[in-house]
Amino acid sequence: MRLFADFYVQALQPAERMWVEKARTLARDTIGPHAAETAKQDIFAWDTFRLLCGSGIVGTAFPSAYGGTEASMQLRIRLIEELGRVCSAAASIVTGTDLSSRAIVAGGSEVLKAQVLPGLCAGELQAAFALSEPGAGSDVRGLATQAERVGNGYRLTGTKKYITRANTADWLVVIARLANEPPGRNAQLVALLVSTRLPGVNISEPVHKLGWFGVPICDVSFNSVEVPLAYRLGSVGEGFELAQDALVRARIGHASMALGRALGALEIAATYCNDRELFGERLGSKQGVQWMLADLFTQIEASRALVFQAALAYDQKDPHAPMAASMAKLHATDLGMRVITDALQLVGGRGYLKSFPLERFFRDAKLNQIGEGSSEVHKTVIGRDLMRRIAHSERHPCLHTGSTELY
Ligand SMILES: Cc1cc2nc3c(=O)[nH]c(=O)nc-3n(C[C@H](O)[C@H](O)[C@H](O)COP(=O)(O)OP(=O)(O)OC[C@H]3O[C@@H](n4cnc5c(N)ncnc54)[C@H](O)[C@@H]3O)c2cc1C
Repeated sequence: MRLFADFYVQALQPAERMWVEKARTLARDTIGPHAAETAKQDIFAWDTFRLLCGSGIVGTAFPSAYGGTEASMQLRIRLIEELGRVCSAAASIVTGTDLSSRAIVAGGSEVLKAQVLPGLCAGELQAAFALSEPGAGSDVRGLATQAERVGNGYRLTGTKKYITRANTADWLVVIARLANEPPGRNAQLVALLVSTRLPGVNISEPVHKLGWFGVPICDVSFNSVEVPLAYRLGSVGEGFELAQDALVRARIGHASMALGRALGALEIAATYCNDRELFGERLGSKQGVQWMLADLFTQIEASRALVFQAALAYDQKDPHAPMAASMAKLHATDLGMRVITDALQLVGGRGYLKSFPLERFFRDAKLNQIGEGSSEVHKTVIGRDLMRRIAHSERHPCLHTGSTELY
């Protein structure tokens, strides 16, 4: 019996349910038992990557024409949740595929897609997504990496920071600003597919970090890198839209990963409370503990509904999808941090030990609140959209039409 509501899985098509079963089996038999070992060093989790590619789970992000199965986001969130429940690196490999490959799927020419996508799908190649820069993280208007139009292509110059798996990537999806354009105009962004083997591409050693071990990050610099025109993704000025589409998918994925980890943390804490005897009774029999668990349990299920809504909106190409993704990411990742903090408290000193999984969960949870737009960025986006919508919405029936008298 599963602790959490399984009707999201029951609502999937039989063929889709088979994928969830596959992810569950991998999580239970292989990835979960080895997650602590995977997380010991901050080197790329090759075994997990090969397993996820070999099983076809990475391929669920790719169209069938290139060897994938192009799963709906409704299915992908279930796969990410199963993996996030045991291992952030595994879940990140799946969400990272959306981030790094989506712009190629959505904006690459047929020739480019045929060249790159089958390898990415099979795990013979890897890609990374390079948007953030020393002067541009939350605020992409500060992007300074320049793509200058020269001869039959672009000359790329600039620096990107914290790029996940840049050191194992064969390809980088780079979002750059067209040279000679004033800063701050998103319409002048371009997406380029850049081989990491091109002269002038420099990738740093992995940057040390708090958690998410198994998925290293590096800084990348481009020193007058010549990128052929054929490697532009989408048309001129489409870079921002392509990045947005990848980010919306990755945000829904981050939310799902955070929830998967929260589910796992709650299961671990509840198990401990059931097993542990204190003051002559089970810890879990105390009302204070049950109320704490009940609150977390309920919040997690509420957040799962929000993440499902975002995935559904994305699959249905609903214009509300980016907003739903922001809400899902904000809620699930903030909740994830809270659940893990409380779960760790419930298991006492053990929770603080390296040998117990919640220490790892605790360190990993923080990143979900920062990457793919921090919680504050999403609140800003949601708040701004709310104010824009209310100005055009039907007036509340209890307010006088066109009047401010009732205020
Ligand atoms: C492990 C890891 C992996 C990453 N992988 C990638 C990757 O693969 N590709 C990539 O391009 N980038 C990647 N990043 C970068 C990541 O996306 C950025 O770190 C993130 O967007 C935040 O940008 P910043 O670090 O520059 O923080 P800043 O932009 O300096 O923001 C700092 C803080 O300010 C606050 N803040 C921001 N805006 C507001 C506001 N409007 N109101 C109030 N407070 C606000 C938030 O708390 C925010 O965290 C990664 C980062 C990490 C740590």
